Amino acid sequence: MGFADSLKGFKVTFEQMFKPRITTQYPKEKKPKPERFHGRHVLNRYEDGMEKCIGCELCAGVCPAKCIHVRGADNDPDNPVSPGERYGFVYEINYLRCIHCDMCVEACPTEAITESKLFEFSFSHRDQAIYTKEELVVADDGKPQNLPWEDWREGEDKDTSGWMRATAPAGSANFEGIPLWSGELGYGVRQAERGQSNAEPSEGAE
Ligand code: SF4
Ligand code: SF4
Repeated sequence: MGFADSLKGFKVTFEQMFKPRITTQYPKEKKPKPERFHGRHVLNRYEDGMEKCIGCELCAGVCPAKCIHVRGADNDPDNPVSPGERYGFVYEINYLRCIHCDMCVEACPTEAITESKLFEFSFSHRDQAIYTKEELVVADDGKPQNLPWEDWREGEDKDTSGWMRATAPAGSANFEGIPLWSGELGYGVRQAERGQSNAEPSEGAE
């Protein structure tokens, strides 16, 4: 390598020294996560506290990593767990296998399973990696439970509840292109997002 090549190399280094730094002092400093970040799952409940999962097993069927185990059971009419005929009696996710692809969330007909922004959780035992329904279901305030081996930071439990729908469940043309969120225990109803057209939501779509 000649002297001219060395100079070129130094020039590149020198230019980089004055550019804004894009790295952070992780884990002390953390960047805010995108609103639709895929992290640790939660099992949601309706605003009246009922569980959304109906034990249909669609999430388990679609999971490419085969890491969801669900068993449904009939609701006791006098003491129902979900508003439907059935509920998720057993629900487990194995985080040693999950790739956070979100296909379970897409498949769920009731928006029962969604993902929080938490990805920093490490285990010292295999049992901790297999999350049970009791751990995944949101607490009475509608927020994810903070388990002892999880490192929750501010904002990571926000916006976990509803998942975006490309159209209104009712199919109303007023909602075309306007992604909506479902009402959730602890969160209420979030405002609709603008669609790809970036148009203002039509009247009645919020
Ligand atoms: S995010 Fe993907 S890999 Fe993880 S449980 Fe859901 S479908 Fe399976
Ligand atoms: S989380 Fe959704 S898809 Fe999975 S069993 Fe429950 S209702 Fe069905």
